[in-house]
Amino acid sequence: MPSIFAKQFKERSTKLSADLQHRFWIQKSLKGYEKNREEKRNRFQNWEAARQSAAETKWEAVNHLDQYLIEFTDKIGARGTKLFWASTAREAREYILNLAQEKNARTIIKSKTMTSEEIHLNEALAGAGYEVIESDLGEFIVQLRREVPYHLVFPAMHLTRGEISHLFHEKLGSAETDSPEELTMIVRRKMRAQYCKADIGISGANFAIAETGMISITENEGNARLTTALPKVHVALLGIEKVLPKLNDLALFLPMLATAGAGQQITAYNSFIGGPRQSDEVDGPEEFHIVLLDNRRTELLADPEQRDALHCIRCGACLNVCPIFRNVGGQSYGTTYQGPIGSVITPHLRGLQDWKHLSSASSLCGACTEVCPVKIDLHHHLLHNRRNAAALESGRWERRAFRVFAFLVNRQALFSGVTMICRFFQSFHRLISGTKADPLRAWTATREVPMIAPQSFREYWKSRQK
Ligand code: SF4
Repeated sequence: MPSIFAKQFKERSTKLSADLQHRFWIQKSLKGYEKNREEKRNRFQNWEAARQSAAETKWEAVNHLDQYLIEFTDKIGARGTKLFWASTAREAREYILNLAQEKNARTIIKSKTMTSEEIHLNEALAGAGYEVIESDLGEFIVQLRREVPYHLVFPAMHLTRGEISHLFHEKLGSAETDSPEELTMIVRRKMRAQYCKADIGISGANFAIAETGMISITENEGNARLTTALPKVHVALLGIEKVLPKLNDLALFLPMLATAGAGQQITAYNSFIGGPRQSDEVDGPEEFHIVLLDNRRTELLADPEQRDALHCIRCGACLNVCPIFRNVGGQSYGTTYQGPIGSVITPHLRGLQDWKHLSSASSLCGACTEVCPVKIDLHHHLLHNRRNAAALESGRWERRAFRVFAFLVNRQALFSGVTMICRFFQSFHRLISGTKADPLRAWTATREVPMIAPQSFREYWKSRQK
């Protein structure tokens, strides 16, 4: 039986893949990215060597995660950072909720963090009565629309300027405009006051550096810097796989993430945070908390076959090239992480039984694997998930069908007879195909039924010998 999530995915993706306007906008928004990415890749002396080096660094980090995490937490903890290890999404949410209560917080400002989407933090905070504001422009837009992000890097890429202008007019009372600069300024004016008002700032982190005990946040709007510096309390929520061994590793990872993720040479703002404000510093938060989230990542770590999925730096490049993502869009998946990487890791993070359908949402063309800057073998992992799902299935009928097939193919005369009968039914089916009398019409509406060959190989061989 398909899970409720599989049914929802099918409904949404069927609808969106038939929406030509939607497909046009997605292809259009990715076109500019593709051109820039190619151009910026060429600035690397050797992009393939850079990928190899990044993959090896992540391999080192993930395969010695226990050591590097301890090094990271010891060093950042020594500067007064409070650390919390959250085994589950629930533990992470509860820690942040308790902290908000302890600080008598009313307003919480956030910069873009997919990990907070993973643990459904906004819903939990809003449910407890806190005002939660997303400060990243794209995240702010989807928050106003009460939607989940459409893409790991471009949360509002499915919307046109006109739709955004209309949204701002409706929700913020601003005048309609077609100018992207004016649309940005509308949010900037609103956001400035919010930074000063917020009691807690919540961010994610792109990397956690073990050697120096710092987190690194890379962004283009400067909103993460304000979110982490202005409120009195800063909470950084990050998955345990974000760790990198050395500060020097960023010399490769920062430009690589910018190139693969946004087609940029380097992002506009790169911040390093090593603790709360120290006695000789003039600004920064009074308190700094780090929540390190496991949420079944250690189960993935224990799987030698798919462990490299933890190498992901969330650049979103695999989404951009995926023919499925480009046609069904990010929100069809119903997952925090969309596209090929989402289809690989979601069954691990949220259960194979409910999310096994995602591994079939792939043409297995391998474009994702080819583009991934850290060389994750994505399309083979999708195959691994398919294999694991097949083993999970009770598959009684499938097994019976294959037993019957095996029985037939081992009896040549019987097999030829059955093939002839199938040919007859297929000719008959062609007459009723697409009509109401066609029992297969739901399946054939979007597919061609492959024709049974007019001659079997054995027949062909016989005729050749004659
Ligand atoms: S799997 Fe690779 S390409 Fe996809 S988001 Fe992660 S790092 Fe980027």
